[in-house]
Amino acid sequence: MRIAIISDIHGNFEALTSALCEIRQFCVDKIICLGDIVGYGASPVECMELAMENIETCVAGNHDWATVGKTQIGFFNAVSRAAIEWTSRKLAPHHIKYLENLSVSFSNGSFHVVHASPNKPHQWHYIMTWNDAKEAFSHLDKQVCFVGHSHIPVIWSEEGRLIRVVFSASETSASFTIGESSKYIINVGSVGQPRDGDPRGCFVIFDTDKKLVSFHRFLYDIISAQNKIFYAGLPSFLAERLGAGI
Ligand code: ZN
Repeated sequence: MRIAIISDIHGNFEALTSALCEIRQFCVDKIICLGDIVGYGASPVECMELAMENIETCVAGNHDWATVGKTQIGFFNAVSRAAIEWTSRKLAPHHIKYLENLSVSFSNGSFHVVHASPNKPHQWHYIMTWNDAKEAFSHLDKQVCFVGHSHIPVIWSEEGRLIRVVFSASETSASFTIGESSKYIINVGSVGQPRDGDPRGCFVIFDTDKKLVSFHRFLYDIISAQNKIFYAGLPSFLAERLGAGI
């Protein structure tokens, strides 16, 4: 089976439409989303409609649940809070119901998916250090776990290896084969707000038979996404960071 795994769309309609367009070329069997469809970007309604139409399985992100009151907004910084409050005023009742009903994790055969970490997923722990990864591995009973949340594409292996998935400007994809002897936690990067210094969006295609994980970067209309953030009156940093990929 070939699966597209996307995460952290964050109300960026231009990025989501470009990602879905790219994904179409891979003839995938399904699309899984690791959460944060909304928050930060100026097109939450458009992203919700596209996501509900195209994504077969979605788990909850911290911004999704904060927008519908299922995660306390006090945990977020002022910029994030402003965007969450703005977003919750835009969503229709059927969007809110969809976000409320998302579960925090999902398992399928040999892999697990969650927004933040398999370690108490509803507490949204970041996996940034080897200690975070070790704690996460101790809560993982599948061989592979896909995560989002940090917006930085990386692979952690249980034997202590960290592979940073870095692309030069001319590279658009990078592939890794999952070995049998280790467990892996794979951060698929972000569709709508990359933070690894590369402003291109990122998603993963997972071939479950070949055990092949390929990361893909794609261009989208950043200027249009930025302009919508400015016009919406959202904090301007949210537009600026898209241009730098930070
Ligand atoms: Zn996010």
